[in-house]
Amino acid sequence: MSRLVVVSNRVPVPTPGTPPAGGLAVALSGAMKARGGLWFGWSGRTLPPDAGEPRAAELTESEGVTYAVVDLSERDLDDYYAGFSNRMLWPLFHYRMDLTEFTRVNLAGYHRVNRLFSRLLAPQIAADDAIWVHDYHLIPLAAELRSIGCKNRMGFFLHIPFPPPDILTVLPNHADVVRSLAAYDVVGFQTPIDVENFETYVRREKIGRRLPDGRFVVHGRTVRVEAYPVGIETQTFADVAAASERNALVRRTKESLGDRKLIIGVDRLDYSKGIAERIQAFETFLLLDPEWRGRCTYLQITPKSRGEVPEYAAMEREVAGLAGRINGTFSELDWTPLRYVNRTVGRNALAGLYRYARVGLVTPLRDGMNLVAKEFVAAQDPENPGVLLLSRFAGAASELDGALLTNPYDVDGTAGSIARALDMPLEERKDRWSSMFERILEYDVAWWCRSFLDALENEEAAPPQAGRI
Ligand code: ADP
Repeated sequence: MSRLVVVSNRVPVPTPGTPPAGGLAVALSGAMKARGGLWFGWSGRTLPPDAGEPRAAELTESEGVTYAVVDLSERDLDDYYAGFSNRMLWPLFHYRMDLTEFTRVNLAGYHRVNRLFSRLLAPQIAADDAIWVHDYHLIPLAAELRSIGCKNRMGFFLHIPFPPPDILTVLPNHADVVRSLAAYDVVGFQTPIDVENFETYVRREKIGRRLPDGRFVVHGRTVRVEAYPVGIETQTFADVAAASERNALVRRTKESLGDRKLIIGVDRLDYSKGIAERIQAFETFLLLDPEWRGRCTYLQITPKSRGEVPEYAAMEREVAGLAGRINGTFSELDWTPLRYVNRTVGRNALAGLYRYARVGLVTPLRDGMNLVAKEFVAAQDPENPGVLLLSRFAGAASELDGALLTNPYDVDGTAGSIARALDMPLEERKDRWSSMFERILEYDVAWWCRSFLDALENEEAAPPQAGRI
């Protein structure tokens, strides 16, 4: 087993006194602890002005894993992170051409930081290390490393959707992006739909073909491109949820609800999550099903995110306005239909709230996977499970066949599904839930990590011509 080098934009350096990392970080650091590892990326800090470029990554050791982090200048962060990553790739890959902003300044910053990372990472890499790069911020990293002679096995996992070619080609440098993907040995996507989109792109742009064994030849390099759906720590989350009935916040929330049914939504405030459409669907539901007024409460827990990107501020106003309108229209002196909360909630309380909810609303307009959907399923009480209402446009929909699938653009249809979920008999709830739970128990985050790494280790180390990419 070779040593594992993980590269991601942010690095969860363990620090005493901070809450434990999420499932993904646990799985990745677990794999690194087993074989020795290095985790490289941005420190989360900015360099003082005029500091010049960092010359080396800052290293810390913890439990056999080395964490190597780099500070970035304000300008690099503006261009690479807020600019090209979050104002071009994020909206475009979530099918939001209308929200993209392409500038050559941002693109240059994106390449500058990927090059900087490759130069600071290269001295840390040993000849037989396996390198696993994560997400859209770092697509060109392998090509940068190859250009300075790095011949290691390299894998890339895209956590967000890979859009169909008609959307991808809106990106002026789409050809370079796909060429950069071809510098890896394994490319992982979340779902078979993403793989299909990649295949269609390769065929239409005439840059390669699929081999009979399923791998692709793209720009003359052989690459394994497959779906590895990200999972959660299912059993652990289920155990935490079962124990969380005693959590103080969960108890207080339950008491405040009385015998009203809880509908829950948990998402970062992001336009991909369909929060405004979901709140409108809830409003329509209250209009069309007045018998539920006073008998259910919708709790939407939504921490703010990416305040540096203007679209997020606009959406924040929109969602707050809708929440105010619904509560103004439907509230009674002793009942508020919607509790809209802009904060994060600890994992234990969150698990307990999912478990207490009768309905989980997970209705993104587009999502690579959506881990909230899986957490909601994992948290349920097998004797009295809640109903997952899931967007057909979430990656999770390709696995969670027991969910009530909904089209979030169809506000009336989603409103009808909320009523159906609230009315669903116990037997049907159990049937639907158990098939989903079995699925996510088997395909958990440890499976995801293991299967990607198996694929990476079974690929041959990059052939010599790779250096030319
Ligand atoms: P994304 O990565 O786009 O934010 P996911 O659904 O895949 O979406 O993952 C979100 C993660 O963040 C989940 O693990 C979820 O529990 C967590 N999360 C989202 N909102 C909150 C919140 N208000 N409090 C605590 N954790 C949250």
